[in-house]
Formats: sequence, structure tokens, C-alpha cells
Amino acid sequence: MLSDFINLTFNTDKLIEFFIRHNILSAVTNCNECENIVHLNTKTLMFTCRKKRFVKNIHKKRISQQCRFERSGKVGTWFGNSNLDISLICRLTAYFIMFPPPRVHFLSLDTGLSRVTAIDWLNFCREVCESWAKKHCEKIGGPGHIVEVDEAKFGRRKYNRGRVVEGHWVFGGIDRQSKKIFLVAVQDRTQETLLKCIKDWILPESTIISDCWKSYRCLENENFQHLTVNHSYNFVDPDTGIFSKYISEYLINIKLANILIFL
Ligand SMILES: [Zn+2]
Repeated sequence: MLSDFINLTFNTDKLIEFFIRHNILSAVTNCNECENIVHLNTKTLMFTCRKKRFVKNIHKKRISQQCRFERSGKVGTWFGNSNLDISLICRLTAYFIMFPPPRVHFLSLDTGLSRVTAIDWLNFCREVCESWAKKHCEKIGGPGHIVEVDEAKFGRRKYNRGRVVEGHWVFGGIDRQSKKIFLVAVQDRTQETLLKCIKDWILPESTIISDCWKSYRCLENENFQHLTVNHSYNFVDPDTGIFSKYISEYLINIKLANILIFL
């Protein structure tokens, strides 16, 4: 499915047709002056109305007036805040789902976009996944369940321009059996903070797998069984800092359509 979608990104007409068919772009809107239906110009992705009509002026005299209505068809969509070509945005989004990190170099080469722009879009995709995951958080684990936990620092940019201005820690876990997850923003990754999250989100008697981060050392005393893995061998994500294999796979499996209709 994703490879078909990648092919579509090389044919802008068909890509736009695809988006209209799936209600990601609207084919029509109403002119906010004359209220007539206006069709999307699929080349410019603009709605424009230049209809002439008669109105009465303050002296009750009929005068001719022309609509000046103009609106981008991208407003309120995944493409809304960007001047990038939508084919490129789609290819970047699809690559985010298809390829595990490190992928910035490839993305930049394939699309001809700067490294900074490619990283910006990857961050944007990640934030959408993070937001999606937050909405689907629930308490996980329990006797006989293996829960994998990890923490990651998410950078935040002004979309498409500027440098990283801040970042925040996100702590998450996935139940290997049920595939249910939790994901929460945390101030820091001290033992106190992480232990509180673990107690809030993971049921007692779970087996918890984490990296060797020192904050996890107390888990054995807290009615959890604790195993560690070494991230430098297994799961490290050079793009961002982190997220374990299971969490990454889970997030990557979120369907393209979910991302595109998110906004
Ligand atoms: Zn009009």
C-alpha cells in the first residue's frame, strides 16, 4: 500500500485526485461573499471566486460588484502550514513510516530538501504519533505480562523554519502481549518521576524491561520484576535519541491515513 502511495507522489494530478476521493482535500467550498459553490483548482490548489453580481449601495442604487474570494485548499489539512510541494510532503511522510532511522540523509537526497527541512518533517510526524498515542493511553501489564519502557527527548521546532527551541521528555511503555501502550510527558527522568509514572500506568507484578538507566534500579523493590537491555546493541535511534524497538514499531505502524487526516 505504501509503495503504491510513493508511486502516486510522482504524479501530482493523481495524488490530488486521491486526496479528494479520501476527503483529505475538499473539492468544493462556499464563497464567503456570494455563497456560491466554488471548485478547487487542482493545479494551484486554490479556491477562487470572481463572480459579478448586483448589490444595492447606501443610496439604494444597484451597482455591480465582483467577488474577491480566495482561499488555499491546503488550509486545515496536513499541508496547511507549509509552502512545500504536497508531493514532497507525502513522500517524506511515507518514508517516515516505511524506514527506521537513520533516514535523514536518504530523505534529504531523495527529495532534494535540506537536512533541516527533512528533520523538521520527521519531528512533525513524530509529534502527530505522540499525540495519537496519548489519546490511546491505558494502564498496562499485570501478572505474567512483559512491559517494555523507555524515555525519549522530543525536540520541538517552529514548523519548517527555525532551530530547535525547546524539548521535553516523554516516557512510555508497551505491553508485549496486548500491544497496549502508555505515553506521558515528564519533567525529567529522575527515579522519583519515572517510578511515579510506572506505578500510575503499569499494573503490579508486571515484568518490566528497560535500558540500564539508573532511575530504574529500584523496580525490584516495588513489586515488579526488572530486566534490562543494552540499547547500544539493540534499539538506539540516532535521529532523535531513542525509543525502544517495540515502541518505535508500534508508532510506525500507525497508518498513513491516520497521520494525513490528523489535522
Ligand atoms: Zn463569490
